[in-house]
Order: sequence, then C-alpha cells, then structure tokens
Amino acid sequence: MSANPLLAAARAVLPEIIPLRRALHRFPEIGNHLPETRRRVLEALDGLPLDIHLHEHTSGIVAVLEGELPGPAIVLRGDMDALNMPENTDLDFSSEIESAMHACGHDLHTAMLAGAAKVLSARRSEIPGHVVFMFQPGEEGCHGARHMLDEGLLDVVSPRPNGAFAIHVTAQIPSGIVSHRPGPEMASADEIHVTITGRGGHASAPHFASDPIPVAAQIVLAVETALTREVSALEPVVVTFGKIEAGTTHNVIPETARLEGTVRTLSEEVRSHVHAMLDRIVTNVAEAHGLHAELELVAGYPVTVNDDDFAALVTEVATDVLGESKVVPLPTPIMGAEDWSYVLQKVPGIMAFLGACPPDLVPGEAPNNHSNRVRFDEDAMATGIALYAAVALEHLRRTA
Ligand SMILES: [Zn+2]
Ligand SMILES: [Zn+2]
Repeated sequence: MSANPLLAAARAVLPEIIPLRRALHRFPEIGNHLPETRRRVLEALDGLPLDIHLHEHTSGIVAVLEGELPGPAIVLRGDMDALNMPENTDLDFSSEIESAMHACGHDLHTAMLAGAAKVLSARRSEIPGHVVFMFQPGEEGCHGARHMLDEGLLDVVSPRPNGAFAIHVTAQIPSGIVSHRPGPEMASADEIHVTITGRGGHASAPHFASDPIPVAAQIVLAVETALTREVSALEPVVVTFGKIEAGTTHNVIPETARLEGTVRTLSEEVRSHVHAMLDRIVTNVAEAHGLHAELELVAGYPVTVNDDDFAALVTEVATDVLGESKVVPLPTPIMGAEDWSYVLQKVPGIMAFLGACPPDLVPGEAPNNHSNRVRFDEDAMATGIALYAAVALEHLRRTA
C-alpha cells in the first residue's frame, strides 16, 4: 500500500513504537525532570548508532546521528512531558499516576521521534551531515526548550544546525493530515497578575473604606475596551482574565482584590504595546478611584514564527511522501503557545501540526488537546515518523 519507502519504513517500526507510546502514556511525568521517561527513551534508542548527551539541568536527551556523508545538521524535536490533571479516557493504558496525564500528545511525539531515530539510523549511508534528535522535557510552561538551548543543544555538532523541525499532534484535525503555515503560527503567552489595594471596612459604609472590588471590575472592562481602541483590528490579540479573587463574605469590604490573566499576541511589537497598555490602565484606573494597584507580568513563550522557506520545503516533502490530499495549509495561526519558539528564534525551521483524531470521532467535536478525555489515533504516528525522516533527509541534501 505504501508507495513511499520512508512511509513503509515508518510503518515497519510502528509495532515497536506503539508499546513505547503506551508505556509513556501509562506513566506520565510533569515538568523538567522526567527520570522514568528518560529511562524508557534511552531503552528505545539502545543499540542505535547514536551519540547520546544527557542534559544535567533537565531530563533532556540529545541524540546525534552522524551520516556517512559530510554535510550540515538539523534538529528534530519531540517533547516528553505530561500535564497536571486527571485522565478519564477509559483507555486500557490510561495513566496510573494520580494527577498526571499525557493530554497534549507528547507521548506520541516522543515515540515518533524514537521511531524516526530508528528509520534514519538504518539510512546512515544516505545522510549528509548530522541529525540531532532533541527529546525535550518541560514544554507545558516550564521552558524546557530554553533550558536545553542554554545547556548547549546547538553546540553538539559542527557546523551548528541550520534547520529545525517539530511536529505537534492534534485531535482537532483528521488523522494523518499535515498542516502548517509560513510566518507566525502560534502566539506569545504572558501571565498577568494584578493586586489592587484599598482599605477594608463595613459593607454598609463604603465611604469609610476604599473598595477594591469595583476597581477590579473596571480594570477588566477598561483593558478589554482599550484593546479594541489601541490595537489594529488586523492584529490578533487576546487578553483573558481567568481568575478574580476578593473578599470573604457578603458584608465585609476587603482590603485587596486580585486578578490573573493571560495575554496572547502574534508579534513582538503588539506584545510590548499591550504590556505598556496594561501597566497604564491598571495603575491609573486604581489611581482614579484613590486606590493603589500593581501589575506583575510574567514573560511566557515568545511568538512561534515558522520560516517561509522551511515551511515550503515541508509542504513539498509531505506532499511527496504522503500525497497531496494529506497536506492542508493551516488557514490561521493558533493563539496557543509553544516553547519550540525559542529554537525557531535561533534556527530557521517550523512546527507542523499532525492530525490524530481517532477515526471513531469527529474532528471539531472530539475532545481537544488538554481535555481529560482526549484520545489520539496511533496510526498517525507512522505519518509523523515518515515526515520527521523525510524532512531531515531532504533538508540535509539540499543544504549540503
Ligand atoms: Zn499542551
Ligand atoms: Zn503540546
């Protein structure tokens, strides 16, 4: 059935890769330290002709495959961490760890990358240069990619990598479909923390107090209004306040109120404009009512920007390996965020989405990534493995 030899090779390793994925799924780990996951990955890579570098600050693994021909280098990435949440999928390999679930499909990414290492290891004689397999922890908010860069990810080979490719599975797209776009693909994501301080008192006599609650409400509304007046309608931006906290009971005016939120943008210019705007509004709305407010912005991941030429290469390679019907341009960016963005700030490359909606579910209606009920189609992993391998080979050949 598989006309393409890389797809056939990917299918051939699937029986080894599915058990790895299920073992990772059953024993998920969270954050930058994933000892069991690392042990399983190393076991899967055992016997392959790889030069393995174990990172010390995190559980990151950098496995380098040296081709038999001279040439450049490419980074292929699979993230390995899970989320702090319960699992309710009823899968027979459901999480056995309380409050940990592979709900973003990183178990598939890790297994696919191990599969690609197997497929490419068998083709060393065709490879010009190096393939750097990046097994990354801490994608879910822990800046794992940045930690791996700081620990020398790009210095393991000479010359340094001139291309970078990551795949992310999604239950929102039919299984086996590859989708990406040139330019901004995912948003920056920063945390907003606001503390409003007034003066507590009796609820019946607000004139003897300084009530922070109406001020908190006005800050939320002023921010949402200002976004529509200050940022062009053509520039995507989201500010959501997800938490508002104040008071203890109905007849007491509290001293403080707190807001927490997130700000998402698709450009560094809009990002810094919105930061300044938040500071101005928070401070001055409180001031206008005679209260004091402080804003703390916690910088999250930068905008994920795909390289135009690399995106075109992936479209071409994916069309060649999978067929035209399997490659669908991503119509718009996504306001989620990715720490792969740190790597793309240094090396031209992209992240491609890979549809993995189970065939018994309807994309769009199926539980989404991060849902306690999300399921992924393991068959899509063959597509992922073949795509990792094909993109690496073609990029190295073209830039050799
Ligand atoms: Zn996620
Ligand atoms: Zn993810």
